[in-house]
Amino acid sequence: MHMDEYDLLVENATICTLDEQNTVVTNGVMGVKDGAIALLETCRTDARYKAREVIDAHGMVALPGFIDTHTHCFQSLLKGLGADLPLIQWLNSSVQPFGVRVTHRQQELATLVTCLEALKCGCTTLCEFFYTNQDPELADVCIQTMRRTGIRSVLMRTFQDLGQEYDTPECYIEPVETAIAEVERLRASYDDGNMLSVWTGPDVTWATSRHGYEAILEYCLDAGVRYTMHLKETPEDDDMCRRHYGMGIVDLLEEIGFLTDRFLAVHCVNLTEREIATLAERGVSISHNPAANLYLGSGVAPIPACAAAGVNVCLGTDGAASNNATDMLDAMRLAAMVQKGVLRDATAMSARQVVRMATAGGARALGREGALGTLEVGKRADVVLFNPNKLKSMPMHDPLATVVYSSSPESIDTTIVDGKIVYQGGRFACGVVEAELADQVRAVL
Ligand SMILES: [Zn+2]
Repeated sequence: MHMDEYDLLVENATICTLDEQNTVVTNGVMGVKDGAIALLETCRTDARYKAREVIDAHGMVALPGFIDTHTHCFQSLLKGLGADLPLIQWLNSSVQPFGVRVTHRQQELATLVTCLEALKCGCTTLCEFFYTNQDPELADVCIQTMRRTGIRSVLMRTFQDLGQEYDTPECYIEPVETAIAEVERLRASYDDGNMLSVWTGPDVTWATSRHGYEAILEYCLDAGVRYTMHLKETPEDDDMCRRHYGMGIVDLLEEIGFLTDRFLAVHCVNLTEREIATLAERGVSISHNPAANLYLGSGVAPIPACAAAGVNVCLGTDGAASNNATDMLDAMRLAAMVQKGVLRDATAMSARQVVRMATAGGARALGREGALGTLEVGKRADVVLFNPNKLKSMPMHDPLATVVYSSSPESIDTTIVDGKIVYQGGRFACGVVEAELADQVRAVL
């Protein structure tokens, strides 16, 4: 009998593949080889599977790992600071004063807190929207620390080339050409096209010049780099844009040619129907960050309308200064609950829709739908094992409903990234111990 040997086998799981047909394999087995899914089928009694490492996932649900498309790692040291203030005041009283002084050690510890919490909540890919560019080495520290935790990551090295009228710290402001040179350096040093990618983009509308948009767009299209930006989180975006350019920000971006399928627009709380149609037509993806939008009183993004128009929507947590966590389980629950309440319609958003946003939607936004976002043979093995036998989750009738509405990190048993077990049963493969990390964090505040 021919026996394939795998690096890792997950046996006896209910596998929610989240493929196009939403196939669920009960009593399934998944074999991993060289970081990819090499086998996925119902356990056969006549087959003997061989592997170096075996996980018996009896009673558990296997899902594709969640993709967090927007966070700011350094903000993990700021939970609760500047609480209950509107966005610009919160930014200028809590986030900016800390951001301009952040040390290498603080960056390292904040990145550890962010990535480890993410892994513990089933996130396998984390997108870091990086903007504390006053010290180029902070980006290196961030990348090296993300790598150390074993999480798949994207460093989005953004830039601000104006913003004095909104009190953007002087030390953040740089010519777009400086930013491009740094992005090139980071790509050459770290981008491996799989575990770590480097993107760029403008930070916010009120800190970007027209030349900034044009130059970064030209660079991204030439070099094949994807880009992101905070867009329409609050009315300031349009106010500033109308004053300077005589039109709203979406119209300005459309005029520049900035709206493409390489663009990930973050927030999009205040979109008109016409703007939604434009984003859909141009293939722009939206990163929906419900926790931050609620915390800062920004509003509720029109996600059901975006999805109905054909916009690809994915989920993000946003920085822990406005979340106040890095918990994708919480992001999924809020994404579903908020729309139901605001629209007074329990069908406005389903558990399946939000899990797809957190998985396949994220993969598509990253241009990696061929490798991530579903559990299928040939894709990278980014897998979460969800254990419903915990008080908050029991009993499980419908796996996706349980994951979205009745979950907590306690139910995340194992997180696998690129075929490696990076988190299991409260332990991180990188060796960091939660209680020790808490002491280290306290020591740098
Ligand atoms: Zn943000």
